[in-house]
Amino acid sequence: MLKILLVSALVTLLSVSDDTKVYICDSENAVAYHYTKECRGIKRCTHEILKVTKKEAVEKELKLCGWEY
Ligand SMILES: [Zn+2]
Repeated sequence: MLKILLVSALVTLLSVSDDTKVYICDSENAVAYHYTKECRGIKRCTHEILKVTKKEAVEKELKLCGWEY
């Protein structure tokens, strides 16, 4: 029962941030997602910049950009 509660709490936490839009570089070498297109991290991107939800970025195993903590 406790486990079910923990899982549902986690799902709730994750779903809160689902709709946050982030920017990612459409490159197989991309490692991060960004909250702004003006970020110096994404300006190095030589591929297309995609706007996706944070959930999609996390599913691609991208991490929050180091410039944006
Ligand atoms: Zn960034």
